[in-house]
Amino acid sequence: MKKHGGLTAQILIMVSLTAVLICACVTAVGSALIYFVTEDSIKSEVNNAARELCSLYDSDYHGEYYMQNGSLYKGGVMLSYQDFISKISQIACSDDVDFTVFWGDTRIFTSMKRNDGSYFIGTSADKKVSESVLVNGLEYYCSKVSINGKDYAGYYIPIVNSSAKTVGMIFAGRPLDTARSNMRMIIITLSLVSLCILGISMAFFRRFSVKLVQSLSDVSRFMENVANGCFGAELSHKTLSRTDEVGDIARSANTLRYNLRELVERDPLTSLFNRRSGRRAIDELISGGRSYTAAMADIDYFKRINDGFGHACGDYVLKELSALVREETEKRKGFVSRWGGEEFLIILPGKGISEARDFLEELLDLIRNKEFTWNGERLPVTVTAGAAEAKEGETPDETINRADHLLYDGKKSGRNRVVS
Ligand code: GH3
Ligand code: MG
Ligand code: MG
Repeated sequence: MKKHGGLTAQILIMVSLTAVLICACVTAVGSALIYFVTEDSIKSEVNNAARELCSLYDSDYHGEYYMQNGSLYKGGVMLSYQDFISKISQIACSDDVDFTVFWGDTRIFTSMKRNDGSYFIGTSADKKVSESVLVNGLEYYCSKVSINGKDYAGYYIPIVNSSAKTVGMIFAGRPLDTARSNMRMIIITLSLVSLCILGISMAFFRRFSVKLVQSLSDVSRFMENVANGCFGAELSHKTLSRTDEVGDIARSANTLRYNLRELVERDPLTSLFNRRSGRRAIDELISGGRSYTAAMADIDYFKRINDGFGHACGDYVLKELSALVREETEKRKGFVSRWGGEEFLIILPGKGISEARDFLEELLDLIRNKEFTWNGERLPVTVTAGAAEAKEGETPDETINRADHLLYDGKKSGRNRVVS
């Protein structure tokens, strides 16, 4: 019994470790996936946004970009801030995407503003960016670039003139703080969901393991009782009705108890209680404070049957007679045990001597009239019985002794009768 808590704890530890591991893996893999998917979607969003701004300029103004008197031109038309703002407002992308048009590495138009509300123009691009886009003339994606005190994920497209020289660039970028906080929210939600699943599964497994351990404890207690000779031990209905292996073990243990009880408590030839269990049944009856009458019954001249027809025939008579006595006694809520070779102790709870006597007369009559035949020959079987009602303060042995003496009197006075 000391180990029960241990088994529940062991199951819970095993299950918790597995569940925690699964949840941690799911959260880690999920978070990594979310990170990569978000990165990828930001990259394609800023790429498309930058490309769209390029297209808008190209479709509105045909020709090259050039700088004249501090103003940016394209195809001979001077580009204005208003036009820039109107173009970026047409681009389908998140609200927080910022755009910039560079001449060389200098911001000419940008949607980024300083703290005082002025546009962040006239400032230079990051060195790394300038090198990659202006020097090498390549498109460039930067997963983290610091602009105007903010971290951005941005895409740069070079502006190339007819002599294949990169003269500027167009930028679209998303501030990382909002993207990151979205990602953080998703990861936190995922972790919380994992924790909830973990909690629910732990509660479920706790319930399961407690039930399992309860059933195992029930079987263990039952087997302990049976091992100590307590055949009245019972298994709970819950344990017996389980449909799993524990239920199988419980049912087998119950059958084992039944068979052991039969083996220990019953006489193998007649299936009646043996002397020991008969004696215990009387003790139980007395401890319940019930009155009773005890009758000792003995087959008359049984030795003659054995000698005349053989031991097997004697056994046959014993079995047949026992079945009859048991059936009749049990009808009266009494019980019978095989007290000796051809001697039976009949106990009639709650019956006074006259009731008991009537019953015994009836029983002896039934025995007289029963046909015991062996090899076609009818056997003369009669019984003598002595009956004594238990007196107050008398021990069972004293009552049984009185019944035995009365039986002896019956034998002496001619047998085949009831003496009380
Ligand atoms: P009484 O009327 O005085 O009781 O005479 P009885 O012959 O019945 O009594 P006795 O004590 O002389 O003999 C009892 C016989 O019962 C002796 C014994 O061999 C026989 N017996 C005891 N147990 C068994 C058994 O299990 N099977 C058989 N076949 N015989 C048994
Ligand atoms: Mg006898
Ligand atoms: Mg005898």
